[in-house]
Amino acid sequence: MKIRNRIALQFSLIVASILLVFSFIIYLTSAAYAREDFYDRLKSKARTTARFLVMVSEVDQKLLKIIDRNTLTALYDEKVLVFDEKNRLIYASVDDQVIHYQKQLLDEVRQQKDVETWSDQNQLVGILFEESGRKLVVLASAYDLFGRNKQLNLGITLVWGLIFGIGITVGLGIFFAGQSLQPIDQINRQISTITARNLQQRLDEGDRKDEIDQLAVNFNVVLGRLEQAFEQQRSFVSHASHELRTPLAALKSEIQLGLLRRFSPEEYQEILNNLLSDTDRLINLTNSLLFLARTLENLTQMPLVPVRMEEVVLMAKDELISAKPEYRIEFDYENLPDSENETMVSGNEELLKRVLQNLLDNACKYSTDRTARIRIGTDRKFCRVSIEDRGIGMAPEEMERAFEPFYRSPKAVGFEGFGIGLPICQRIVELHQGRITVESRLHEGSRFTVWLAHL
Ligand code: ADP
Repeated sequence: MKIRNRIALQFSLIVASILLVFSFIIYLTSAAYAREDFYDRLKSKARTTARFLVMVSEVDQKLLKIIDRNTLTALYDEKVLVFDEKNRLIYASVDDQVIHYQKQLLDEVRQQKDVETWSDQNQLVGILFEESGRKLVVLASAYDLFGRNKQLNLGITLVWGLIFGIGITVGLGIFFAGQSLQPIDQINRQISTITARNLQQRLDEGDRKDEIDQLAVNFNVVLGRLEQAFEQQRSFVSHASHELRTPLAALKSEIQLGLLRRFSPEEYQEILNNLLSDTDRLINLTNSLLFLARTLENLTQMPLVPVRMEEVVLMAKDELISAKPEYRIEFDYENLPDSENETMVSGNEELLKRVLQNLLDNACKYSTDRTARIRIGTDRKFCRVSIEDRGIGMAPEEMERAFEPFYRSPKAVGFEGFGIGLPICQRIVELHQGRITVESRLHEGSRFTVWLAHL
């Protein structure tokens, strides 16, 4: 069922139930008032009849009957019976018709002085009339024709009122639900036109105040992220193919050179060595590309275990020095940790080692003294590892772009590298819910800091 119809239905059901309950209460209350009113009229009739009978000596039974039948206020099917102390009927307003009552009703009236009950369709009252030492029981009954008709009319009016009320409610419910859901229809129509090709399209955000505008705002944020991810992927593929083409072209020209003429064995040896080093470079590049692609996709299921940062730092340092002995790496504490736990983080040792090796390699590579300095610092929440160098440094705009895949500053062109080390580092640190920051001054040096929450 459409939301619009569901809202209209619920709204109508609620209003219909309220109308129904109110109509019912009105009907019942009005019926109770009418009944009470009629009992009062019957009692006053009974009292008047008894008073005439006992106190007005000029009025005999015959005259009283005539008066009873002909007064303007006579009730429909009205009957009055008067009984003496021995329950003998001493007066009946009608001769031919009888009041149906049970004998014990008379005793009940004598006890309670005032009884209200029913005789078939008619209302019946019994009162004890005490005057001049006599105790008469008067029964009066009549059919409340006027009251019943009024009640019937009220019932018909209420039923029609209900039918109209519910009809109008359903109509209004459908109209207002449609009106309030119209912006969602609009958003739906706009969303259906968005595909991978036009991710730059955005939804109309209105005045950004109501919930539906907020939905559009949030959806636009998601679209923005998707667009960025698509863009990243597109540029990754084009950069990757570009990076692969250069060493492949070098390989091809070396092979072509080898085929040009016959070479001496030493010359062939040199050509083969060149081929080998270019192939190594290619393998390095494809490995890094694969790793970057994997970190961009998902490493979210990687197991995280407690890792001691000093140990990771030392392992990264030792491995790097044994691969590149010309590097010098110094290690120091920024402050003495308050407890052992302050340098323990939850992470993946291999990946964190890779981050530190990349940063250390850059620090030594981009410095003439080939020296990097590692400092570990802690505070109440984070364990920081910063890697400093006194190398070529970066201008502010280079710092901003340093973490973009394949970005290399113009000064870095003379150094070996592909521009994918820092994006890998950033991605790994993000996977550890940490962050990586950079401070640098051109020609003075750089400091990269990895921030990870400690245990
Ligand atoms: P690569 O070093 O292979 O070029 P990275 O992703 O590691 O790729 O670094 C990206 C760019 O950031 C580098 O090309 C360089 O311009 C700059 N950069 C990184 N580290 C440093 C550093 N320690 N000093 C100066 N520039 C750096």
